[in-house]
Amino acid sequence: MDYAALVDVYDRLAATDSNNDKRDILAAVFADAGELLPRLVTLVRGRLSPAYNRTELGVSSNLTLEAIRRATGAPETALRDRWQGTGDLGDTAVWAVENGGQQTLFSTPLTVERVHDKLRDIATYEGAGSQDRKIDALAGLLADADANEARYVVRTALGHMRVGVGEGTVRDAIAHAFLDGSTAAITVVERAFQVTTDFRVVAKTARDEGRIGLDSLDIDLFRPVQVMLAEKTESLTAGLADAAGDGEGLCEYKYDGIRIQVHVRGNEVRLFTRRLEEVTEQFPDVVRGVREAVSAEMAVLDGELVGYTPDTVRTDDREPVPFQELSRRVKRESNIEAMAREIPAVVHLFDCLTDGETLLDRPLSERLDRLRAAFEPVDPDPGAVRAGVEHSRSVRAAATDPGPAETLYRGALDAGHEGLMIKNLDATYQPGRRVGRLLKLKPTMEPLDLVVTRATYSEGRRSEWLGRLYLGCYDPSVDSFSEVGRLSTGYTDDELAALTDRLEGLVTARDGRDVDLRPAVVVEVEYEEIQPSPEYDSGYALRFPRFLGVREDLDPTAADTLDRLTDLYRSQSATNG
Ligand code: AMP
Repeated sequence: MDYAALVDVYDRLAATDSNNDKRDILAAVFADAGELLPRLVTLVRGRLSPAYNRTELGVSSNLTLEAIRRATGAPETALRDRWQGTGDLGDTAVWAVENGGQQTLFSTPLTVERVHDKLRDIATYEGAGSQDRKIDALAGLLADADANEARYVVRTALGHMRVGVGEGTVRDAIAHAFLDGSTAAITVVERAFQVTTDFRVVAKTARDEGRIGLDSLDIDLFRPVQVMLAEKTESLTAGLADAAGDGEGLCEYKYDGIRIQVHVRGNEVRLFTRRLEEVTEQFPDVVRGVREAVSAEMAVLDGELVGYTPDTVRTDDREPVPFQELSRRVKRESNIEAMAREIPAVVHLFDCLTDGETLLDRPLSERLDRLRAAFEPVDPDPGAVRAGVEHSRSVRAAATDPGPAETLYRGALDAGHEGLMIKNLDATYQPGRRVGRLLKLKPTMEPLDLVVTRATYSEGRRSEWLGRLYLGCYDPSVDSFSEVGRLSTGYTDDELAALTDRLEGLVTARDGRDVDLRPAVVVEVEYEEIQPSPEYDSGYALRFPRFLGVREDLDPTAADTLDRLTDLYRSQSATNG
């Protein structure tokens, strides 16, 4: 298929805001795709592989800019100016092809196959000289591209298509192309996607085997399932009433670690995160622990991986390390065993998705019985050769008699965990969904008023707005602001546009897409926790800050102070034990 034909599809998708139009455009493309179907279902969203096996191209904006320069001969400064002006390297590439001055005498027209396969190759380049090879390969595609093709080659390389196609649109298009497009058909396609996490498999099965084929798609070992997600609840009794009505619900420790999906077949164990990334290599201690603990021939188990301090991990008073500490283990590529000794881990298991028989449609109470049958807990051993594998701590309780749940909640906070999860014992496992049958309860912190000290333009759809705001608290002793973190969520587009207008009037220095600001705007933010952090000069960082609004009524010197932050941090540590 000519790449130009796919580019035409991208243009038509970008030209309409109607989701139904987008769905119909895609359905027609999928219906005619033939052998290309698996590649097209990922390419329409600017992907080269399913989410769980995300092909990391390792292509940064700067590398792409250099490829555009090499392919078109456009001067770097001109490219940077354009990029800064539009915030989109795809548009920059269009301009460069039209104005770069480099004539290609013999160019081979691009095909979808070539673009897809070349970009996948780029992902495999590693080691010395790989950056240069990536630039050359990308430049090779761009040299053969016309202006509009160059736009989408660049956007695919960077993974931002700007054509407004989400997972839901692809799902609906498959249901329209190969089934009757009804709500029931969409549900069938959705379930198939939730268990496989792979539109390539779903689309091909829908086309070749129809609804019956889709229904029979099942959890496959070593292909992660989307995890079930939780909603917030404000109090224990409200949570119990919501989750369990008049009956009993399950309350469990809410551990603050990494969600981990454990796949086991015989001796083979693989681990995936909530974002479906594989982390088996980073946790050899967990692999060994799971091998020892799990007796089922095959199983997919759901749990939370928590890091503890080495001297407490084998005691009854384990001290969890902050999530940031544990996440160092995920990023680590060498000396992995030493890291396991430094931050020993325990997996707290709380669900069983399959033990050979798929359990997604069974009630939680039954899945828990199966979980109990699937493994025997093991303690972490000295030297962290083997991680601990345990059940999550839990009690059953009713809203009318929340005593046992309160005791558990206090116990969780005293032991340094985040709070409680409250679960409906009759609920099925709903991959990828927040369905109100899984609730989380944790102490919330009072919002803070902080000053915006510098900012960076966002990437992607919001790239013309200053969407990343660095926040400072006031330090009256030196009459200046100390940074406590970076905010990038919680605003609507309108709020962000208005905020950008304000902030652009306060710029004191610019460096690429970063700006320093006169401290004048105070924003109110909520957050989950204050953590010690070497990254900011206050020594603290807010965890998950969210924008609540601009405090028009506050002068920057009336913002929250460093002393107050320190107090809040201490009181939070005291509550956490
Ligand atoms: P949140 O990340 O705040 O939305 O809370 C949901 C997350 O809590 C889940 O994705 C898990 O990673 C984590 N979690 C910790 N303990 C449990 C538990 N006992 N049951 C379910 N999820 C848990």
